[in-house]
Formats: sequence, C-alpha cells, structure tokens
Amino acid sequence: MTLLSARLRRVTLIGKEAKPSTAHGRTAPAFTLPHPGHCSGLRTLTIVITDDSASLTSPGGNDPVSQRYQEARIAFRHLANACTCGQEFGAVAHFDRPSSGDVAPVSLAGWGLRRLERGLRVPRLAAGTSRLGPVLAEAKVIAEAFAADLVQLVVFSDFLLTDQDVDGVLADLDNFPGQVHAVVLTASPQKQLFSGTSVTVTPVGIDAESGDVARALLRSLTAHRLAAATSQIPRTTEL
Ligand SMILES: [Zn+2]
Repeated sequence: MTLLSARLRRVTLIGKEAKPSTAHGRTAPAFTLPHPGHCSGLRTLTIVITDDSASLTSPGGNDPVSQRYQEARIAFRHLANACTCGQEFGAVAHFDRPSSGDVAPVSLAGWGLRRLERGLRVPRLAAGTSRLGPVLAEAKVIAEAFAADLVQLVVFSDFLLTDQDVDGVLADLDNFPGQVHAVVLTASPQKQLFSGTSVTVTPVGIDAESGDVARALLRSLTAHRLAAATSQIPRTTEL
C-alpha cells in the first residue's frame, strides 16, 4: 500500500484558480491545482469508479466529499486544457450496474471531455449499491480491451463495502491490470483495508480542504506526464 496524505501538499501550486459553482448556485471555495506537466507520448486510460451510496450522496455541502463530482470534473478539465497529444483517455463507471452515468473510454479532447463531465455526477435513478465487485469486474474488461500503454484506476468510495466477499474484491483490486488509487471518502479510513496491497490510498474526509478530491484525481491523471508538479507531493506509509 502506498498512502498519499491529502494534507501533505505544500508544494508550489500553479495553474488557474477554480471558482466552481454548486448545483444550488452556491459558490464553492476556490482552490488551485498543481501544474499538470507535459504530454509523455504514452497512450493512457484513466478509469474513474464512483460510489453513489446514500452515505456519500446525502451530505450535500461544500466539503470535498459532497463536491467530489464537481472536483473530479475540474481535474479532468485541468488536464484536458494541457493535453496536446490526444492520446489521454478517460472513462467513468458507477457502482450501480448498469448505470446511465457510465462513459466508455473517450479522448479528453473536445466532445470527449464533455461526455466525461456528464458522467461525473450522481446518475438518475441511482440505487446506491455499496458493492464494488460488479463494477470492478467491468472496469477490468474495459482496461483489458483498451490498447493503452498505461491504465490508471481511481476509485472514489467510503469503502464501506457490502460485497459478500470483501477480501476477494480487494484482491481483485490489487490484481487489477493497471495502477490503482483508492480515494477514501470518509473521516475515518479503515487503516487495515489496503495493507499488504499495492493500492495507493488518499484519505479525504468531510473536514479535508476544498480541492483535495481534484488533486487526488490529478495525481493519477498526471502520473505518466513529464514535469508534473503533482510528482512533488510527499508520500507517507501511515495514516
Ligand atoms: Zn496529452
């Protein structure tokens, strides 16, 4: 397990200041994002898996957990604005299967970004399952079918999973054909959940700073890019 602290990021932050508005017309606090670096020439796919269970969709505030979709959209747009190669792709898959919010792999350029942004919100008629297994299996199929040099899987969840075989699901997560990043959206991450795995973990609670979700996603989106400021973020192995 590699654990990334959401708070250890006092690096030089450059880039456009984001002043997003919420769905209710409120203005969320502004935050800055690190420079996303330069295109590497690699063909990459970042799959975002999102959990729409009631424990995550109910808060409705301006904290990073409530604003996770908005912050994810901002992170994708931040990278899309910097990408000149057209070889960086994204996809969205929701816990509920099937889901109207799923987006198959699309280039971050042009209409592809807009499709991704439409998928990065709570889908209509979301049942709110807390089972990761089914969507993880589908993400594996997507990853193996896509001819990418590098696949990143980013899972936004509180990881209060109701799968019958949680250990088996976590093993599947560890064996995923790509780099796996768990963004744990809860104030009290389960410390042992990812121990012994290669999963990178970023805890983001409701008391975290605005922009933490966007920065966490941007770390994965820019892992392959050249001179990305996100690579300067310190890592730690303990919560
Ligand atoms: Zn690019």
